[in-house]
Amino acid sequence: MPRSLFFALLLAAAPVSSQDLTVSHVAGSIHMINGQGGNIGVSVGADGFLMVDDKFAPLADQIRALLQDLGEGDLEFLLNTHFHGDHTGGNAEFGAETPIIAHHNVRARLTTEQQRGDRITPPAPPAAWPVITFAEALSIHFNGEEVRVLHVPHAHTDGDALIFFTGSNVIHMGDTFFNQRFPFVDMDSGGAVDGVLAAGRAVLAQANPETRIIPGHGPVASPSDLETYLRMIEETRAAVASGIDAGHSLEELQAAGAGDEWATWGDGFISTDRWIATLHRDLTE
Ligand SMILES: [Zn+2]
Repeated sequence: MPRSLFFALLLAAAPVSSQDLTVSHVAGSIHMINGQGGNIGVSVGADGFLMVDDKFAPLADQIRALLQDLGEGDLEFLLNTHFHGDHTGGNAEFGAETPIIAHHNVRARLTTEQQRGDRITPPAPPAAWPVITFAEALSIHFNGEEVRVLHVPHAHTDGDALIFFTGSNVIHMGDTFFNQRFPFVDMDSGGAVDGVLAAGRAVLAQANPETRIIPGHGPVASPSDLETYLRMIEETRAAVASGIDAGHSLEELQAAGAGDEWATWGDGFISTDRWIATLHRDLTE
């Protein structure tokens, strides 16, 4: 192949803009929409659509078009895995047409001003507010399966939900799971590293080797990918803990890095330095 043609094909295959979304079948009734923002999970079938998370408001029309390509019917339910804007930004668009379901604390945070460091986020508009909220768990019976929604306390935030599509054997973990990258743990919003580990273990307890796991960010995962993620957290946390015990400063720990095995895990939203700082704060506060 001529070199110029090769590059022309390469360019043609690349997304034309960062807002391009793609949809892929995960298993059973469940599809995933990836691209900008958190991963969306969607159940498609005779009852219509049930969607988990909704990225950013400007992507709503693109998401609607992708749903129409997948099947027929209405969007009957929208679940939020947690309150962050890259997972709930479309709420104001979709909330006018469908009930939004989330943990109590998601509603509490979306209805009030939020502050994280210097960053202030105003309350979301009322159309974006969850109208059905829960403390621990609820089930939706939809498209021939039980969709079990389970709160895990103090994990990525204080309002995380895991979504088990029990018939399709798919689990959406929201941002309690960043596949193949260091995670963001929002400690200013009730998150904690122990809770992230507990969420992962709760999923592994329900999973079998065929289970497909949708992470908040990154590609669809297997239970063994999730085990690797939990081992990464445990091993890097143990290294930071022993460094603290040995009297090293945060800067010294960051200079030492997180180890060769995790060298590419800091290429995403959370750099290696930021992950080490997260572990340091989690262990010392
Ligand atoms: Zn998040």
